[in-house]
Amino acid sequence: MQPEKTPDTVFEERKDFILTKGKHKQQLKCDADSLAGCVSQRACVYCGARVVLNPITDAVHLVHGPIGCASYTWDIRGSLSSGPELYRFSFSTDLKEEDIIFGGEKKLARAIDELVGKYHPGLVLVYSTCIVGVIGDDLEAVCRAASRRHGIEVIPVQSSGFIGNKSAGYRAACDALLRIIRPPKGKGLPGSRSINYLGDFNLAGEVWIIKDYLRQMGVDMNVSFTGDSRYETLKGAAGASLNIVQCAGSMIYLANKMEELYGIPFLNVSFLGLEDTAQSLRKIASWFGDGGVAARAEELIERESAGAGKRLEWYRERLQGKKAAVYVGGGFKAISLIKQFREIGIDVVMIGTQTGRKEEYETISELVDEGTVVLDDANPSELEKFMLEKGAHLLVGGVKERPLAYKLGVAFIDHNHDRKHPLSGFVGAVNFAGEVYSTLCSPVWKYVGGGIL
Ligand code: SF4
Repeated sequence: MQPEKTPDTVFEERKDFILTKGKHKQQLKCDADSLAGCVSQRACVYCGARVVLNPITDAVHLVHGPIGCASYTWDIRGSLSSGPELYRFSFSTDLKEEDIIFGGEKKLARAIDELVGKYHPGLVLVYSTCIVGVIGDDLEAVCRAASRRHGIEVIPVQSSGFIGNKSAGYRAACDALLRIIRPPKGKGLPGSRSINYLGDFNLAGEVWIIKDYLRQMGVDMNVSFTGDSRYETLKGAAGASLNIVQCAGSMIYLANKMEELYGIPFLNVSFLGLEDTAQSLRKIASWFGDGGVAARAEELIERESAGAGKRLEWYRERLQGKKAAVYVGGGFKAISLIKQFREIGIDVVMIGTQTGRKEEYETISELVDEGTVVLDDANPSELEKFMLEKGAHLLVGGVKERPLAYKLGVAFIDHNHDRKHPLSGFVGAVNFAGEVYSTLCSPVWKYVGGGIL
């Protein structure tokens, strides 16, 4: 019989997933399944797929599963739309006991018919959930038949549980997107400056901020994946001359596939913080090799950095020397946050991600100071242990980390999809600093013993 697991034995088993810079020589283990018996903060496969696809604003998003899975709605993922609002509904087949015994295919077909009759969409996305993986409903066949019946695109998203973690959901979503994209009609226009923007979900209108920067540089945004996107525009994604990828964790698979299938190269970018925003705009300008684009990019960077820089200076004077802990979904965000905190005088003392990739952890390890704890797929007790050990004044995370921070009397910054203010671009860097200042300097800490007042 296996000995019972205790917090100490779990910690021992997890030791390859945690390192302290300067103390441990080994490479951090990542991109692995969560350890059994150890609580993980990762979301499920379906959730990963839904994050990526839900911002398609004119699609019907139909969840084939019990009603609980459909609780994952627009309202907790506030990506904005410039037009259609259909994506804000969360439709479900509401599978019940009888459907689990006799199968849910007929119910699914009826649900698609009803939704198409009522909303007349061009695209229906049908998400598979855990139980559908168990009962084995043939989503592909049901969707194919519905597609023929209605003359529209009905695409199954193969996101049932048991095929992995949230990352497997990202991949399932990218596979669904690849079915929507049509091969280009010919070669892109010579000298065309059209790009697709991958891995931005238009939270609080962030895609629009970046679209405006690119417009000022003379570059068109062809399609954004998937913030504020629509079915018809997604179909034309293969017409772009370049893909830029912000959230690589969710979209690098799509970028690689589009390079392989349509010969579209890609660049990794990040629009979080002054340094990374400026660097990304320069990278795009230099890829086009056009002096005009480069000059306009420099003008934009100079103008925006000057204004934002002055405001960050004010915050830096007040926040200098504070310590932050970071636990976010993807690696690109973690990397940018290290630099962003430096811009306002704060040291990152603990940093981890749910789905970071090996190369992202290598960059994180290079960027952080000696003694910083780096960890993958952490559980709440590990976060607590290292935050206390390192004396963090602030935690950056998502909805699951907020209660932990408050219980420890530590300030909290929401860097997840449910926030309502933009954190991208120059304007986002100032918003971020303002939020750090207001949470760290909140008078509430006087009463609960935390913060910096
Ligand atoms: S039942 Fe499965 S698919 Fe539904 S929310 Fe839970 S883990 Fe995700």
